[in-house]
Amino acid sequence: MTAAREHLKTTGFVLRTLSYSESDLIVSFYSHDYGKIKGIAKGAKRSKKRFANVFEPFSLTNIIFTRKSRDMLAFIESCDIIDHYHDIRQDMEKTLIASYFIDLTDHFSPEGKKNENIFLLLQDFLLLLTKEKASDAVVRFFEMRLLKLAGFEPALDCCIVCKTPVTNGNSYYFHAGEGGITCSACNKTQRYEQPVSAGTVRTLLLGKDMDIDKIKLITLTDSLARESRSILTGFISHVLGREVKSLKVMEQVRNLYL
Ligand SMILES: [Zn+2]
Repeated sequence: MTAAREHLKTTGFVLRTLSYSESDLIVSFYSHDYGKIKGIAKGAKRSKKRFANVFEPFSLTNIIFTRKSRDMLAFIESCDIIDHYHDIRQDMEKTLIASYFIDLTDHFSPEGKKNENIFLLLQDFLLLLTKEKASDAVVRFFEMRLLKLAGFEPALDCCIVCKTPVTNGNSYYFHAGEGGITCSACNKTQRYEQPVSAGTVRTLLLGKDMDIDKIKLITLTDSLARESRSILTGFISHVLGREVKSLKVMEQVRNLYL
């Protein structure tokens, strides 16, 4: 005799969906209680009543599911919308940024590993995007915080060789392979280094921990925006071993319209 399967409940952000058959979808979520989970939603493509448009990326949902074991596909019994983030979806730039947040979270989260702080990070930054205007600071500070929570925080507070703390006015070099900066005295010529100002380094360090309500007050100058983008996106592709597709889409669209 087999034991009845337990019904598990959680809340989760939709990461992505994959068409499985004519009527079924495979959906990944970043959930509050179980980290990333992947499940099959039977009849999701047919039954509008059972799953009424809940599976759009970055929607926050209540999920009830069953599964035989942690590494097996879950069976999604029901899924209801908590927040569809209507205000974000009304704005193309914000939609692309939210999609990038979701994509990054997906890439940095192994399945089944719970990290409540990553769930809260998504929740905070989607709320920030809802209330405030989109900015480079919002995107870069999300990247810094996610890297930290996922255990890949770049070492930016001092030179990785001589350990001298970052000093205003000095110039530094970022080494994606080592995940940190060197001062100009310690910098040996390497092919993949990127020059970076003390101002950029300090801005990223500040953005990593600052009160989320203060992020709206930060405007990055063009050079700060360019340098911090170059460092972080280069480092992220290095860690993941691939480009993040939604980043490219987001930037192409921003270049067209802004
Ligand atoms: Zn040094």
